Amino acid sequence: MATEPGPETAPDPRAAADDRAPLGQLTDRCVKCGLCLPHCPTYGLGRNEGDSPRGRIALIQGLVTGELEPSSRMRNHLDTCLGCRACESACPAQVEFGRIMDSGRSALRERIPGYRGSTLAGLFARPAGLRTARWLLNLARMTGLPAIARRMPGPAGRLAGLLAPGSRPFRTPTAAAADSAGGDEVLLFTGCVQSVVDGRTLEDAVTVLRAAGYQVRVPHGQVCCGALPGHAGDLAAADRLGARNNEIFGPGGAPVIALATGCAATLLEAAERPRNAGFSKRVTSIESLLLDRLDRLDFTPVAGEALVHQPCTQRHVTGGFSDTLRLLQSIPGLRVTPMAGNDRCCGAAGDHLLRHPEQASELAQPKILAIRQAAARFVVTSNIGCALHLGRATAHAPPVLHPVSLVARSLRGDSAGAGN
Ligand code: SF4
Ligand code: SF4
Repeated sequence: MATEPGPETAPDPRAAADDRAPLGQLTDRCVKCGLCLPHCPTYGLGRNEGDSPRGRIALIQGLVTGELEPSSRMRNHLDTCLGCRACESACPAQVEFGRIMDSGRSALRERIPGYRGSTLAGLFARPAGLRTARWLLNLARMTGLPAIARRMPGPAGRLAGLLAPGSRPFRTPTAAAADSAGGDEVLLFTGCVQSVVDGRTLEDAVTVLRAAGYQVRVPHGQVCCGALPGHAGDLAAADRLGARNNEIFGPGGAPVIALATGCAATLLEAAERPRNAGFSKRVTSIESLLLDRLDRLDFTPVAGEALVHQPCTQRHVTGGFSDTLRLLQSIPGLRVTPMAGNDRCCGAAGDHLLRHPEQASELAQPKILAIRQAAARFVVTSNIGCALHLGRATAHAPPVLHPVSLVARSLRGDSAGAGN
């Protein structure tokens, strides 16, 4: 039986060592040409070399060789990296910047106790923590707390502002309901944050997949994909979570759907780790499954324009943006427009929007401008972090939806409502 991972579980030193061992070799591949600099959003903000990919790699090199001490300046330069990986896509030497940054932060954790410790990651890393978070959100909704907190200054207001109106946890379909649908089986990865605050999108996914003739199962006991601890440098915790999900999702052949591209990217890349390989190789986008069965979907028209944001994880890791556009274009009446500036991170970047709210807000400004100029009826994005960030930045008007929620709206024949 699987053991529940959590902070009290002893780290697996081999897992961290696997990722850290080649760090010096990885950084040495950077030839310092600077071709990545124009693509880096944080470098673009202040033209500070320390906030560029090249500068950050040099800092990590100094840390690894022992030539540099982990000063607060170094820590700040590494902390403010979004992990968007625009630099990685631009790099002609194929420097694996994402891996370098995760391992660099791991090296910093060894030197600085508590570095990038996250209550959020700790809470979401365990099924019990997820249940607590769902319970807390339900309680808050019953007392009207999010609406009150949204008007408060400071962190409470910022956190509450992330919640779209009607935000609530996922209501897992019963096993009986899942079985009665019949058809080819798909397994739904619900994600930690999404399962707590964006249950409606997950329920829309179940509805749409069933309409397309799939039997949807939601494996019990699944945990966070590992992105939150992994990007904070806690590689052992990320590996434990991957191993746990690998057990939960089992050795079968059914596709695994992760709606959030952030989770999908992490799960896909975990395939490189032997302990997680079986499960991760089955991760598939919901768009591709639905595009295979468009003939089974009874679309009704949805009028207006959908402005489609491309998350960095979709642009630089998972791919599939053209599938997102094609799926949306299948909805009669809907005009589908990619958002201007899709090559730039919106600033959400995992928990960056909570760690560095001012920088996250600054990076969101061009997106807000694009949304206001387009005056579209819907903003669409496939990643929960981006949806929360853009929703808050625009005060949830227009609504920010996952593509599958627009498909669900079309199948329901609900072309009038503006909300989710
Ligand atoms: S990361 Fe790549 S593009 Fe950037 S400086 Fe290094 S080699 Fe050049
Ligand atoms: S991951 Fe993004 S923010 Fe970080 S150095 Fe690369 S381009 Fe800049």
